[in-house]
Amino acid sequence: MGTDITGRFAPSPTGRMHLGNVMCALLSWLDAKSTGGVWRLRIEDIDRQRCKREYAMQLIDDLLWLGLPWDGEVVWQSERSEIYQQYLDYLTDLGLTYHCNCTRNDLLASSAPHEADGRIVYPGTCRDKGLSEGAVRIRVPERLEATNGDFIVQRRDGTWAYQLAVVIDDALMGITHVVRGRDLKTSVPQQEFLYDVFGFCKPKFLHHPLLCNMTGQRLCKRDRSLDLGILRKKYLPEEIIGYLAYRTGLVRDYSAIGVKELLDVFSWCKIPDGDIMIDGDCLPVSVGPSSENLSS
Ligand SMILES: [Zn+2]
Repeated sequence: MGTDITGRFAPSPTGRMHLGNVMCALLSWLDAKSTGGVWRLRIEDIDRQRCKREYAMQLIDDLLWLGLPWDGEVVWQSERSEIYQQYLDYLTDLGLTYHCNCTRNDLLASSAPHEADGRIVYPGTCRDKGLSEGAVRIRVPERLEATNGDFIVQRRDGTWAYQLAVVIDDALMGITHVVRGRDLKTSVPQQEFLYDVFGFCKPKFLHHPLLCNMTGQRLCKRDRSLDLGILRKKYLPEEIIGYLAYRTGLVRDYSAIGVKELLDVFSWCKIPDGDIMIDGDCLPVSVGPSSENLSS
């Protein structure tokens, strides 16, 4: 028997995976598998405008190509609407929800963006208006008002909000370790609040550094040179994994390496705190042990 760790990778199929997504999958897989745990895959496809089935199928193929198989069945958020509705009903029965019809411009005009990351903290404009339509917000306790504000659990068009779906799914899937980019660290208080309201056990949240391009911006799906469509044409899976292992400090030097060989060397202590700069043109085979200038 292994440990009781259950981790997960929960990508949104809005485009091809890029190197940053691969790093997230790899670290999460190693976190779970290095202790004999379980690793689940959940496709976060609730945003029907942006998510495509073909991207999801490609993503599944990419994970297998990389050597990162998951345990159990793939969970699709798009099939879980009834579950989310039950939990929203529960919040509503508790008197914790209300409708809000503020536009983004309303909010920009009435509140200062959050200093740390430019988020807008909702000032509670519609809290006591008793509206019957619009987005659905949840009343947060006083301790969260200044930092998070009443946040949206269901959008105006009926789309489930990320925070609601992710907490319900992680809890129902028995996830004990949530590994994700540190850009999502700010959502911890909101999610922990939902865990408490629903009476769920909280997971351990582990945030990894982000991959950034040479101008310091985090990689996104527009950085085409680092998406798997391009990388798979140029490199072997072991070369991509080896490069990520090298850049995250799991191994001292760059070499092609399979994911299983990293199970024994994986440790969160080795992962740097700061973001990792990636130059799209020298990855990964041109990075040899002699390329001292590339070690950060
Ligand atoms: Zn409002």
